[in-house]
Amino acid sequence: ESNITEGYAKHRVVTKGFNVPPHANTFDALTNRYRIPSHLLANLSTNGYTQPTSIQSYGIPILLEHRDLAAISPTGTGKTLTYTFPIFSSLGNPSTTANSDAGLGVRALILSPTRELAHQIHNECLKLSQGRKWKVVLFSKATANTLTDKKARDKVDIIISTPLRLIASIRSGHLELENVRHLVLDEADRMLDSEFLSQVQEIVAACNHPKLQKAVFSATLPANAEKIAMGMLNNPIRVVVGTKDT
Ligand code: ADP
Ligand code: MG
Repeated sequence: ESNITEGYAKHRVVTKGFNVPPHANTFDALTNRYRIPSHLLANLSTNGYTQPTSIQSYGIPILLEHRDLAAISPTGTGKTLTYTFPIFSSLGNPSTTANSDAGLGVRALILSPTRELAHQIHNECLKLSQGRKWKVVLFSKATANTLTDKKARDKVDIIISTPLRLIASIRSGHLELENVRHLVLDEADRMLDSEFLSQVQEIVAACNHPKLQKAVFSATLPANAEKIAMGMLNNPIRVVVGTKDT
């Protein structure tokens, strides 16, 4: 991770899909093409993100254009920022500061197979949310209990969770996902495997907003998981980052 930039030259990127947006070699190139909130750019440099990694160069524009994405890129290549950055950019404002006509409540949901990974994703979100009143919730039994109140739920912008924990709250009527615009499956090879698949499918079905964007991220995607992913995504773009010597 410390030499993440040294890895760029070795990357070979293959994209597949209709109308793939051009990739952005720098974060500045993104600001020329998309309206990126200034606090988000400031938080990039504050946290030492000076140059996008390969998956970020390709994946961020795709997600900013609200396309569905299957992103396959090796461990340690910055997949987390690839989806967190566009989520914050697209949501624009935290629920608590939104006008009455703006969508309230959970608008982005990130699913992870383990608590530990969910925790890491939460930390990455906190880095990008500095200086704004974003409410990013790492879902647990304790937070689920604080969110049984609808007013409290409506202040939440982003939830990060393992599938089973979330399902308990959906089934008990203590969590609505109809306003979710961004759904991410991280470590999708595991999420689409038999252990989690039916749980994930139940959650995807509960995210019934017509403009829902879905994205899957993984270091590898075996044929079976890839087939399920492609069936789940709408008109997706597939990005595969590999190394030149493989
Ligand atoms: P992956 O999910 O692909 O395994 P992570 O998202 O966990 O990778 O990122 C790995 C490490 O690289 C993290 O410590 C993260 O903060 C760092 N990182 C991500 N993007 C960049 C970037 N553009 N520049 C510098 N460091 C980065
Ligand atoms: Mg990761």
